[in-house]
Amino acid sequence: MITDRPTSDLSSPQPSSERSADSLLARHRRVMPGWLTPYYDRPIALDRGDGRHVTDTEGRTYLDFFAGILTNSLGYDLPEFREAVQRQLASGLTHTSTLYLIDAQIRLAERLAELSGIPDPVVFLVSSGTEANDAALLAAVCHTGTNHVVALRDGYHGRSLTTTAVSGLPGWRPSPYSPLRVTQADNGAARTDGPWTGADKERAVQDLAAALEREGDTAALIIEPVQGLGGFHTPPSSLLRRYDELVRDRGGVLISDEVQTAWGRTGKHWWGHQLHGLRPDVLTFAKGLGNGLPLGGLVARRAVVDSLPGKSISTFGGNPLSCTAALVTLDVIRDRDLMRNADVVGAYLLEGLRDLQRSEPHLAAARGHGLMLAVDLVEPGTGAPDPEAARAFVAACREAGLLIGMGGPGGNCLRIAPPLTVTEDEARTARAVLEQAAAATRPAGHPFRTASRGQSRSSV
Ligand code: PLP
Repeated sequence: MITDRPTSDLSSPQPSSERSADSLLARHRRVMPGWLTPYYDRPIALDRGDGRHVTDTEGRTYLDFFAGILTNSLGYDLPEFREAVQRQLASGLTHTSTLYLIDAQIRLAERLAELSGIPDPVVFLVSSGTEANDAALLAAVCHTGTNHVVALRDGYHGRSLTTTAVSGLPGWRPSPYSPLRVTQADNGAARTDGPWTGADKERAVQDLAAALEREGDTAALIIEPVQGLGGFHTPPSSLLRRYDELVRDRGGVLISDEVQTAWGRTGKHWWGHQLHGLRPDVLTFAKGLGNGLPLGGLVARRAVVDSLPGKSISTFGGNPLSCTAALVTLDVIRDRDLMRNADVVGAYLLEGLRDLQRSEPHLAAARGHGLMLAVDLVEPGTGAPDPEAARAFVAACREAGLLIGMGGPGGNCLRIAPPLTVTEDEARTARAVLEQAAAATRPAGHPFRTASRGQSRSSV
């Protein structure tokens, strides 16, 4: 039956009492799965955004240094983005399906093919990172005729049966069943018992060689150039190159999961794999491309993708609205030189994290590339991961008006990844908040190390 309410009322916000965080949390718990957990003891309900700032339903504004999990590449309410999406909406077409030719989709595919650096590339568009990696793994399996895949420890590639199977991160693999046979290779991260060494590398390479000897033909090596949920750890380039050689010798292709690392996020380059000098056969992407509109996909060698017998389709994949959003996002990244911004502002933020690590006994391993930065919270003395301290740190940042992320295999890593449009002033504000939060969470009896402080007080 047609309602007599104007249709806009059906989706317009509820009265403010029903939109408070407390009311929304109670309702969230009633209708959402228990494993879908928002941040903070008292989660935030966001209501609007502007630039790098978001405002919650209770009127509190925050500086957003996690960007919807590295997805709002341009930040919020950028006029060029809003206008391009509104123009597409005004055409009346938000969806048509791939049964029809879609101008924005084809233009985007051409652009991605050109940016990929892959010979004879084809592009397949879907709606998320999980689907992108599923499609890549399916293509690799069809191309090679085997279901053996090599993936890295602490990797995360999505939430489906196939992509959880190749995800090595503890806690993100709910089922042991898998359509793939997976060998997990070392990711080259330091252990609490010491740094990663050349001997560790040789052992890791030998372990993989032995596994390949047992398993035989291999469909793919899937990597993240910088591991996202795994705590922004960058596997050593020389290790990845050795793994790539071993897997290629067994007929496998290289899949670079660029869901977090593409579009200039790591500075300097469009793709994260360029940090390592690799030549992937398949690049998968999602998150930052649509600046918040759902869009994922892959760009790959035609021979790999076209090896699927029969047909395939993604109903929503490459819809006109998301593709328009992606085209304008890529234009803005190029025209405003946002990769350079990621480098310059990222270097300034990393310097701040390194300063903090030198002076604070509970911070360790400041690291990152471009605007993908992290530092660990550890127990002073032992260096053991301290996830409680990480939660307290993130809560202290929130109190001071800064949103950042968490992650890492030990749950003790702080992840900092603002929109690529972040300004120097905003980075300065964030650095000051991080200093306050570090002081507020410093364990009793472990003094601040003044001697090494202030070594690098540069500005952006
Ligand atoms: N791959 C990586 C590296 C990711 O970080 C994620 C999500 O965080 C995914 C794949 C899955 O993407 P989605 O959540 O869009 O399915």
